[in-house]
Amino acid sequence: METGLSLRNVIDFYTPVNRKSSLKTRCNTMALTKLFIASALITAVLAVLQQSVSLDGDALQTCAVLEFQLPGRVSFRGSDGYQSQTESYWATNQGELLSACHVTPRDSTDLQKVMFLIYHTGSSFAIKSGGHSVVANTSNVDDDVVIDLELLNHVTVQADQMIVDVGTGARWKDVYQKLEGMNYGIAGARAGSVGVGGYLLGGGLSPFSGIVGWACDGIALLEVVLANGTILEVDHNNDPDLLMALKGGGSNFGIISRARLELVKTSNKLDVAFIQYQMLDVMHVVRAITEYNHLAAQDPEAAVSVSVGGRFNEPPTISAVLSHRQGVLDSKVLQPFFDVTHYLVRHERLSQLELSQIYDDMNPKGFRQHRTTATIHNDEKSLVGIVQSYVFDLDPKLGNLGEANMRGGLLIQPLTYPHLHHGSLAASNMLGLQKEPSPLLLLSAETRYSNSCSDSFVHQSLTDFMNGAHEYAAENNASHRFRYLNYASADQIPFEHVQQNQELWSEVQAAKQKYDPHNVFGKQMRHPFKVQHLV
Ligand SMILES: Cc1cc2nc3c(=O)[nH]c(=O)nc-3n(C[C@H](O)[C@H](O)[C@H](O)COP(=O)(O)OP(=O)(O)OC[C@H]3O[C@@H](n4cnc5c(N)ncnc54)[C@H](O)[C@@H]3O)c2cc1C
Repeated sequence: METGLSLRNVIDFYTPVNRKSSLKTRCNTMALTKLFIASALITAVLAVLQQSVSLDGDALQTCAVLEFQLPGRVSFRGSDGYQSQTESYWATNQGELLSACHVTPRDSTDLQKVMFLIYHTGSSFAIKSGGHSVVANTSNVDDDVVIDLELLNHVTVQADQMIVDVGTGARWKDVYQKLEGMNYGIAGARAGSVGVGGYLLGGGLSPFSGIVGWACDGIALLEVVLANGTILEVDHNNDPDLLMALKGGGSNFGIISRARLELVKTSNKLDVAFIQYQMLDVMHVVRAITEYNHLAAQDPEAAVSVSVGGRFNEPPTISAVLSHRQGVLDSKVLQPFFDVTHYLVRHERLSQLELSQIYDDMNPKGFRQHRTTATIHNDEKSLVGIVQSYVFDLDPKLGNLGEANMRGGLLIQPLTYPHLHHGSLAASNMLGLQKEPSPLLLLSAETRYSNSCSDSFVHQSLTDFMNGAHEYAAENNASHRFRYLNYASADQIPFEHVQQNQELWSEVQAAKQKYDPHNVFGKQMRHPFKVQHLV
């Protein structure tokens, strides 16, 4: 049998070498000594392996059979294909994990074969669409199989029906590119390089959230490959229970290979203002955010995100991006932001493609990334305290690490009433926020840096900061259990608040039991965001 598996592949597989190890050597000289000992051991193990090469590595066997079934679609360590797939991850802390192989199905039939084999071999795996998750083991994983959907990237616009069919391995910029020049927009990620698959399964915030809710609320149909390889097309009539669970449920139920999404009528361009404030006006900006959130139902076409931060060794700044389907300056709900002394950096009409390029430029790949999230009620006092804690505690603490590349921010995004309630008018989703009586504030503390030695300090600092934020909000009766899956860190449990909603939780459990009865997406995946966490 020609498996395409060479001795070189096997040796590469058993050599989880140098990329990760070399990062660690910079941490201290003790690590260097350990590395020498480890290298000696690896050399010894390799010598034994070269004597008796057998395909006894579970994932490697699966990779070999996949290569036989889908010739040319499997990349092994050391190959150019493997290298370029590794480099396609946004965060280096995701990309540096060394999978056994990457398999790139060309269509859902290929994907079906992959899933069927994985199901029957019990191999562990990860799924990658755009590779923008910063949580290790979500879209890449050491020594297991990565199912890379990058070739499922077709985009077909059906303008007369106001829908678009998208392969879930496409990036949002591929979709925006197709819509360029048309009078349609779509609820998609702000940065164009974000993948369609992961974004949709987490929910999806967009400049159109006030008009159409979460991006997942605009899903008309999904093609799903279940754990046993069955391909389903789910919509509001067929398997609506699975459709609901996939809208916010992450990779717990199946692999989505294609999505049919509703378009939004626009005049092609959005009106966008980029604004900066001085730190001494922070209280006024916080007031503007909460005021806007109270007023937002009066003009759902507006959208706001505010970021406090910047380079850690420079004084933090406050920047806001205000957008509107028609005109930012004419919107009364955005007026509070212009009432505060500000510097208008840029104000222009931008297509989604142009806007997404600006976000991509602001968020370059190639750094270590960490983020953690919180949700609070629209409470001014809590937000002031949390922003102060970011500026006076977290920012200088991380700045003390002295990394030149290090920067971060506290991203504040209002979850407005029309955004949260759109889903209750359309089909339901698994985010569990449709009955919220008032608007919320979604927070995300984010940090980018280069040195792996800083990992544990950065993670702990952000965790401490967010725990403090929750405690402070709780003191003001303003804390909320929602943890947005797309921003959550590995130690957070995005589905905890869903459990509070007995009706929704039992629907989720029933869907899990029905569509993934053997819990393949729980047991055979190492990602931390599992529905069965709370079973
Ligand atoms: C620069 C940047 C900008 C962002 N902007 C926004 C924004 O505007 N709004 C917003 O809401 N979020 C935003 N995010 C967060 C983003 O939505 C999440 O990181 C999302 O998970 C990325 O999806 P992906 O396909 O690129 O990631 P991946 O890392 O490929 O996947 C993320 C997760 O989804 C799973 N998954 C991916 N595809 C599939 C599939 N087809 N079937 C089953 N499971 C799958 C993976 O297993 C993994 O657990 C942004 C992130 C970054 C880094």
